[in-house]
Amino acid sequence: MRRHRNVKIVATLGPASSDRATIRALYDAGADVFRLNMSHGTHADIAARHATIREVEAEVGRPIAILADLQGPKLRVGTFARGAEEIAPGAAFRLDLDPAEGDATRVCLPHPEIFAALRPGASLLVNDGKIRLGVDRCGADFAECTVLVGGTISNRKGVNVPDVVLPLAALSAKDRTDLEFACDLGVDWLALSFVQRPEDVDEARALVGNRAAIMSKIEKPAAIKDFDAILAASDGIMVARGDLGVELPVHSVPPIQKRLVNAARAAAKPVIVATQMLESMIESPMPTRAEVSDVATAIYEGADAVMLSAESAAGRYPVEAVSTMDHVALEVEADPAHHALIAASRHVERHTIADGIVAAAREIAESTEIKAICCFTQSGTTATLVARERPRVPILALTPLVGTARRLCLAWGTHCAVVPPQERFKGAVLQAVRVAREGGFAELTDKVVVTAGVPFNVQGTTNILRVAPCDERLIQRSEPG
Ligand code: ATP
Ligand code: MG
Ligand code: MG
Repeated sequence: MRRHRNVKIVATLGPASSDRATIRALYDAGADVFRLNMSHGTHADIAARHATIREVEAEVGRPIAILADLQGPKLRVGTFARGAEEIAPGAAFRLDLDPAEGDATRVCLPHPEIFAALRPGASLLVNDGKIRLGVDRCGADFAECTVLVGGTISNRKGVNVPDVVLPLAALSAKDRTDLEFACDLGVDWLALSFVQRPEDVDEARALVGNRAAIMSKIEKPAAIKDFDAILAASDGIMVARGDLGVELPVHSVPPIQKRLVNAARAAAKPVIVATQMLESMIESPMPTRAEVSDVATAIYEGADAVMLSAESAAGRYPVEAVSTMDHVALEVEADPAHHALIAASRHVERHTIADGIVAAAREIAESTEIKAICCFTQSGTTATLVARERPRVPILALTPLVGTARRLCLAWGTHCAVVPPQERFKGAVLQAVRVAREGGFAELTDKVVVTAGVPFNVQGTTNILRVAPCDERLIQRSEPG
């Protein structure tokens, strides 16, 4: 059970994809990580999805990462009696604090702080900016608007007010409850929405401890300004293009995406490119050429993962969307230009012994005899350092900790396996070649590179590198204890 590509695929689960058969089909089509959006659905729904993913994980015998995405201080409209309404340009539309279900003329916007800050002439953008409302009159509990750009408005769509500065805390009361709930469930990654400062990440980290890795979603102008410090405080980054493209001019997103992907790779931290990657597949079994090109671009740039949102959560073709990403990834990664680009953007600074060892492992693995780099890792750090090198061969991350294996499912090129704790290096080498052969990565006559930290069971970093034959008998004969 192995993937034949390096970039990972994240699929958001939702009403279109929550039954066991669909989750299994998404995994089989190529999803490596499942995202549970805490903005939608009840705790019972989230717990059920989490349990189903773990059942599928046990069934396929491979670790699967679960990413819980906290809503953050996101502003959303309420719900509609009919679920959705068409609103046309020029029509009047009212937003208010009345919790009654909405219709084609009004909907609840349950955020008094917006009404307090709104002024006539301001714009409200709904659903990642697809709908635009101009404010004509407003008060403490209402805003009367004209539809400037129309479309379908539906339940709980996000609202941005780019012209107005709103006083918002990084973690709402709901986020704190959701955070505890998600950590108790045992999710592997926790994504923070609308991070603006490194302190926002520290605040979440204090609550999470080491129960989950922390991913900062970059979707605010302030986060772009303070990006280096936010990256340093986080375990991973998401280029959350939906809100980013509303908070900033949409044409500023591609260069930002490139810069963030590069910086995250340099820091050896996983980076996801997210939102609207295959948007038309919500309704259509065929993506547009531009969407396919967007997925390819993220892969050429060296992103660790590409993500599906509504396509897999609420679309008509969730499994097809995952296979589309899988096919694009296989094609891009087979292109010699991809290797050349990845190699050209490799970072050469080496600060630690582990940096040096993984760089050497990658260089040795350029030789055609070597079929994989097997790295023993406790926290996962060594595996992400190897992933940063973007080697030509698969990375086998071997760890006694299932939590580490799951978190690493997001890292470029890593095939994770949970192995019994090792006492001695010889046992580790035997273990590594067994995983390599059983996983179909190497044959008896091949060789692999093995990295580890010795002595085992002592906290420390990688300090040994060995080229090992894949034949256990040769190892038994040649390897010192
Ligand atoms: P975020 O800003 O966190 O991305 P979002 O509302 O854009 O929030 P996504 O997870 O990106 O949510 O999914 C896009 C759309 O898919 C949502 O707006 C919603 O209509 C639908 N959706 C996603 N997950 C669910 C769910 N669990 N239940 C209902 N609808 C969902
Ligand atoms: Mg979204
Ligand atoms: Mg968002």
